[in-house]
Amino acid sequence: MQDKIFVTRSSMPELDEYVEEIRGLWSSHWLTNMGEKHKKFQEQLIHYLNVDNVELLTNGHMALELTMQAMHLEGEVITTPFTFASTTHAIVRNGLEPVFCDINSDDFTINVEEIEKLVTDRTCAILPVHVYGNVCNVEEIDRIARKYGLKVIYDAAHSFGVSYQGKGIGQFGDAACFSFHATKVFNSIEGGAVCFLDKEFGRELYRLKNFGIRGPEIVDGVGANAKMNEFCAAMGLCNLRHINEEIEKRRKIAECYRNYLEGVEGIRLNPVQRLVNSNYAYFPIIIEETDFGASRNELYEELAKHNIITRKYFYPLTNTFACFHNKYDVGKTPVALYISKRVLTLPIYGDLDLAITEKICRIILDCHRRAASKSFFG
Ligand SMILES: *Cc1c(COP(=O)(O)O)cnc(C)c1O
Repeated sequence: MQDKIFVTRSSMPELDEYVEEIRGLWSSHWLTNMGEKHKKFQEQLIHYLNVDNVELLTNGHMALELTMQAMHLEGEVITTPFTFASTTHAIVRNGLEPVFCDINSDDFTINVEEIEKLVTDRTCAILPVHVYGNVCNVEEIDRIARKYGLKVIYDAAHSFGVSYQGKGIGQFGDAACFSFHATKVFNSIEGGAVCFLDKEFGRELYRLKNFGIRGPEIVDGVGANAKMNEFCAAMGLCNLRHINEEIEKRRKIAECYRNYLEGVEGIRLNPVQRLVNSNYAYFPIIIEETDFGASRNELYEELAKHNIITRKYFYPLTNTFACFHNKYDVGKTPVALYISKRVLTLPIYGDLDLAITEKICRIILDCHRRAASKSFFG
């Protein structure tokens, strides 16, 4: 049997390319604290992401956490529970109260028709997630935010390289937070970035990522240490040279999955959004047990038997995490709950063999056929 295939595999440049990129560090001895690689990476990202400003951070989580701190938010933040732990934790760790809004059943982003019902006089911000790289309804979110004077922070951890109506996805909202974690479409080993317009906010964020230090003898913010080091920035510079190729290879994998799985009874695919250039970050499928013949968990086990390790992104929902001790009523986000019990994300990454992709599809189709004949013959 083949080696285990995981949901993703970190993209890496040729070793020589990375060695060449970091060679200069052996003469400069400048390893972190906004060095040459940091500066160059930041400039190239502004260009690639098609945004005005970028601040680099150690990871996507600190991007979210320090963005909220730099905005001096207080009170409630409207967000969704269908996301990675980081989104909700960043809110709570800022002493803010997450207020969970349901998601759309088709694209899994925040349901904008539910947002206004959740606005109170304590609401300070909306934190939606461009989940799987799917673009939120940015126009409507912007309208609501203006109406109530709220900040908008996008969790864009899945959206590197996505554009909407020809604009970089980082242009939407007061801030958009990206993750360059090893498992994402684009990585700098660990890393993150915030895109923003307001330069004053940018200065605050810069200060907070460096302990709140304003000058050699002035520390006037209670900051963290979230500076990206030179080795991570160098990895980012290398991977950025190959990102278009990575996304193009992913497009072919996604196309292959679509060819096999579109129209299969009991399987629903991630939508192809209008006016969006996708990055093919994930390939989620929704399994309806009654039509497919097997449950999501049964399909997960079946694939695992063949060494195909899929993931249940995102199950469980963040508003059911044990650390919150039943504080939140999951009944208020029924669509998110429904999807989280039925979603499975299939392996997708640039170097995934098309033959393996086809094999994964055949295992899924076999599972469906066997289940269908079993129920047919009782
Ligand atoms: C990965 C991820 C994060 C956190 O990013 P890190 O770089 O791992 O800290 C935040 N939100 C979402 C939706 C993510 O998938």
